[in-house]
Amino acid sequence: MSYLVLARKWRPQTFADVVGQESVVRTLQNGLKRNRVAHAMIFSGVRGVGKTTLARIMAKALNCTGATDDKPCNVCESCREITAGNAVDLHEIDGASNRGIQEIRELKENIRFFPTKSRFKVIIIDEVHMLTTEAFNALLKTLEEPPEHVYFMFATTELHKVPITILSRCQRYELKRVSFVDLVAFFAKIATQEQVEISRRAIEMIAREADGSVRDGLSLLDQIFSFGGDRVTDEDVVQVLGLVDQQIFVHLARSLLTADLAQCFDLLEKIYVAGIDLKRFTTDLLAYLRALLICRTSPRPEALLDVSDQELAELRGLSADHSPETLAMLFQLLFKGMTEMQYSAHPRLVLEMAFIKAVQAGQVTPAAALLGRLDEMIKVGGGLQPLPSALPAAKEAEKPPAVVPPKPPVPPLPEKTPDTSREILAVIEPELDSKVQKLEPLVGKIAEPKNREKKGDGAASQTHTKDVRKNWDSFVAYVKERKPWMAQVLKLCENPREEEGKLLVRFDNPSDGTLLQEPEHVKDLSVYALDFFQKDLRVRISSRGDKAGGHGEAVLDGPKEERRVLANDPLVQTAVDVFGGQVGAIRTGPRFR
Ligand SMILES: [Zn+2]
Repeated sequence: MSYLVLARKWRPQTFADVVGQESVVRTLQNGLKRNRVAHAMIFSGVRGVGKTTLARIMAKALNCTGATDDKPCNVCESCREITAGNAVDLHEIDGASNRGIQEIRELKENIRFFPTKSRFKVIIIDEVHMLTTEAFNALLKTLEEPPEHVYFMFATTELHKVPITILSRCQRYELKRVSFVDLVAFFAKIATQEQVEISRRAIEMIAREADGSVRDGLSLLDQIFSFGGDRVTDEDVVQVLGLVDQQIFVHLARSLLTADLAQCFDLLEKIYVAGIDLKRFTTDLLAYLRALLICRTSPRPEALLDVSDQELAELRGLSADHSPETLAMLFQLLFKGMTEMQYSAHPRLVLEMAFIKAVQAGQVTPAAALLGRLDEMIKVGGGLQPLPSALPAAKEAEKPPAVVPPKPPVPPLPEKTPDTSREILAVIEPELDSKVQKLEPLVGKIAEPKNREKKGDGAASQTHTKDVRKNWDSFVAYVKERKPWMAQVLKLCENPREEEGKLLVRFDNPSDGTLLQEPEHVKDLSVYALDFFQKDLRVRISSRGDKAGGHGEAVLDGPKEERRVLANDPLVQTAVDVFGGQVGAIRTGPRFR
């Protein structure tokens, strides 16, 4: 007996056999039960998900003469003929090789006649999108008023290439990629039935490789079964599929994230010696990094990833130790490496370079977190104390994004500062207490007029407003307690003043005011100004060269200028000095979440 490939041997013959298309199957079965099957239907989806298979099952069900309700019965003559592939009233046409108007004319001629044996003639056109425009046009009229005894079933991998005039006359069924879980279950079942011993892990490798296509997976199984015989080892699968053991990716990602360059190179050497295609390897590595990133950021990574529970736990463990920014940067750097590899005669060198960059970039701290820490330090220390060792290389603008410290930043303040202040506090406290006790009787008397002032009407509070120009320094000090970096920026402004209900903040150097001009910061500044000056002032930030007055928005020459300005921003420079980092790529797009 000749060998039947698995894809044919295991081709579903009933609706129940179809893998992973539950909703489409249910719709089709309901249509059959209620006798509401359209005379033209189109099945779309990626290759190997069961488009023509479903069309055939439908053809069987329509012509089935079995007594059972659950059609097709697969035992009546019509069913058996279709299964055997010799039903005279079922016409299967390959749209790719019969795409011209002549073939369609012949087809139209053919369907004028009644079916020979069955109730209906069924025309299945595979890859229907390949038909020529003329062929489609010739088909159009027939689809509009199909003869009662004819059903058209189209299958296509590229639905968007089918003219809308055709689509609008068909009932559409969109088949999805078969899920990883469904594929694993199906392949495991086949292995059992075929009496082949194969591990769960090996089946998962095959299912991942099948990428949602049952047929692709089945041909891989075929190859592996004929290679390994009755007993397939994981190594067989790795070898036949030209795969890299998943553990290599785990090790490599860990080495990259822990900056173990030597280990990275060792692993790459192994891959290289094994003769694995480096481009393919990099693609798989990227897929692994993507999985890490998804694990770190998504609340339900299992819905997005084709991985087993054990792999998911492994991914979770590794990703938890690193910030999403770090993982995203690693992904970006290697993605860039992969793109460069496409055009390089030395892919290995390119990949090594990408590893080096990734390791050098190290751990990325989000800029927002850095700013927060900067604020803390200014608050505690009462000023900035740049680390002397941190200055070199500050101007060397290179690729890695955000502010990237070459090593974990050292807490820049002498640790004793808070302690000493606490000690001093402890000394004064008892003294204070006694004074407060003495003062207490007086407090009520003093508080009374104060309260009255606070609660006073508009006219009364008007008298307590403060002049902007005279109190600017105190205002800056007030802001410093709330947002130290903003105070630093405000110190740079020239001739701050109030004019017609506006607080004019003007910078000589356009770059100084850039950060302050962000709407959220303008809003904060307005609130501080209201609280401090007791006036509702509209904040206007401008700089030399702005259009008259400025509108709280940056007037910049373009993205390039904007980046230059951002790089020279005093706050960024301060951060660079304090943390001893360097300005890398500057991104102005939406923030990473
Ligand atoms: Zn039947």
